[in-house]
Amino acid sequence: MEIETIGTLRTCFPEKFGIPRQPGLAPLARGILRFSAAQPAAVWRDAMRGLEGFSHLWVTFVFHAAVTEGWKGLVRPPRLGGKEKMGVWATRSPHRPNFLGLSLLELEAVDFDEPALRFRGVDLLDGTPVVDLRPYHPDHDLPRSATRDGWIAQAPAPAAAVEWSAAARQRIPEMAARTPAELPAYTADELRGLVESLVALDPRPAHQRGEVGDWAMRLLAFDVKIRMEGTRATIVALE
Ligand code: SAM
Repeated sequence: MEIETIGTLRTCFPEKFGIPRQPGLAPLARGILRFSAAQPAAVWRDAMRGLEGFSHLWVTFVFHAAVTEGWKGLVRPPRLGGKEKMGVWATRSPHRPNFLGLSLLELEAVDFDEPALRFRGVDLLDGTPVVDLRPYHPDHDLPRSATRDGWIAQAPAPAAAVEWSAAARQRIPEMAARTPAELPAYTADELRGLVESLVALDPRPAHQRGEVGDWAMRLLAFDVKIRMEGTRATIVALE
């Protein structure tokens, strides 16, 4: 069989660098799923009926930007400093058989008019092709016997302390107003919160943590320039 995607997720992340490594880590990271033209809008509206009652959806998608890079049985999870290897099925690596991804995303709004679905806390690249959706069911998807052993038993790295330069802070309203219409919208306050939460996650490769250096991540239609000193981060400029 062939898989036909149901639509494309437009997100605030035009590039891989700086995307949170799991959903929910940056709740203000928004995405909009717009459905494909392969079916009439009426079919998508039918399929959406009842979704309003759910807070979260399992979103199945394709790691489309990893396909040309291929996959191997062993990967190096960033959380292990990029040094230790782990079996791909013990990880959430994009480089996996068939490049299928699975994210539990918070459903922010169900828009029957467009039709579209709006999500919060996305961990996905802009333009990610979506394959299917399912409601999160707390009775069945939250096993009481779940353990937290194996290589994830170790707590993740602590958040970086974030400060703004006066020049960068001043440009927040302008950057929020300049968001292209097809991407998720932000007020100035929301955009400040989004940038802070992403920088606090310290997007650098794990082996460079603790070093001093300048980094830039692309967000919506601008660059966030960051100076990292140990676990302190300064947002130097929005350009
Ligand atoms: N929650 C999902 C899962 O478990 O399948 C994704 C986890 S994966 C570790 C998240 C990372 O995949 C992001 O930080 C980003 O670097 C990368 N990524 C996101 N969307 C992608 C895409 N469409 N193609 C390739 N890589 C992507």
